[in-house]
Amino acid sequence: MRAAVIESPERIIYREVPDPTPGPNDVILRVAAAGLCGTDLHIHHGEYEAIYPIIPGHEFAGTIVAVGSAVADLAPGMRVTADPNIFCHRCAYCRSNKPNQCLNLRAVGVNQDGAFAELVRVPAENIYPIGDLPFTQAAFAEPLGCVVYALQRTEIRPADNVLLFGAGPMGSLLAQAITHAGAARLVVSDISPQRLARIATLGATDTVLAGPRQDATLRQIAPEGFDMVIDATGVPAVVEAGFTYLRPRGKYLFFGVCPAGAQIRVTPYDIFRHDWQIIGSFALSYTIQEAIRWLQTGKVRVESLISHQLPLAEVQHGFEIAQHDQERMKILFLP
Ligand SMILES: [Zn+2]
Ligand SMILES: [Zn+2]
Repeated sequence: MRAAVIESPERIIYREVPDPTPGPNDVILRVAAAGLCGTDLHIHHGEYEAIYPIIPGHEFAGTIVAVGSAVADLAPGMRVTADPNIFCHRCAYCRSNKPNQCLNLRAVGVNQDGAFAELVRVPAENIYPIGDLPFTQAAFAEPLGCVVYALQRTEIRPADNVLLFGAGPMGSLLAQAITHAGAARLVVSDISPQRLARIATLGATDTVLAGPRQDATLRQIAPEGFDMVIDATGVPAVVEAGFTYLRPRGKYLFFGVCPAGAQIRVTPYDIFRHDWQIIGSFALSYTIQEAIRWLQTGKVRVESLISHQLPLAEVQHGFEIAQHDQERMKILFLP
């Protein structure tokens, strides 16, 4: 088969590789659509827990073409997506129902070959049928599953006022989820006017362009601060500034992925004095089903979040767009 292989950091090649074969408990999918995500970029730069060479790609959907000898409930021809996270089921975290913190966590597209390929091998237990949901939409089940998990952790309350930094693909999924979860006002800030215009159609009640007037505008909108602040940029300076917009009893969700080792300054007294909660949210924890439901009912819309659909042969071009085009949204490869 043909696949995009990251041979070593900064070196991605589209080439012929052996077809994957299923173990007894695996299935093989023919990949129909696979989304490019920030994690793939980190792996490309050598900044993630990946082993090389690796075929990246962990957000995908396709059709089952083969099943292992022990797989009884899945069959070739089924349209499916997958949870890329492979849990060990034996460690203390798995056994206390916190599988995303599994001590032996592995992931398709991170530590074993992923979906930027014609075929991908996935454990059968990670498979989720999608019915007639289009593949290009089902490829969002994983990132949306991360959003569902984050919202479960934050426990947003009815009519909360929310400030969201970042209107990229993840910010745009968050905006819709937060709206459905009951927020009153959802203010979104980003550096891109085009992204802000789009997110205004997806639930944002106010949009604020990052820049010299941003701070004054945010304070004018919410003089006492926001019930919830969410960072979906992963930019440490943005995360640091976000604290100043939290009202007493406010919650701060760290959703964007800052570079490992980056530091910010916070004032512990303020956290104490204002009853602030700081909430992390890593990957997902059995929340793909909820994501598929939101996609199937159209409550969360993703068509407008796809800026590029490229053949896998153009994988290098796709990675370049992802790194240099500030207006781009989700890039999908169609192998
Ligand atoms: Zn991802
Ligand atoms: Zn485990």
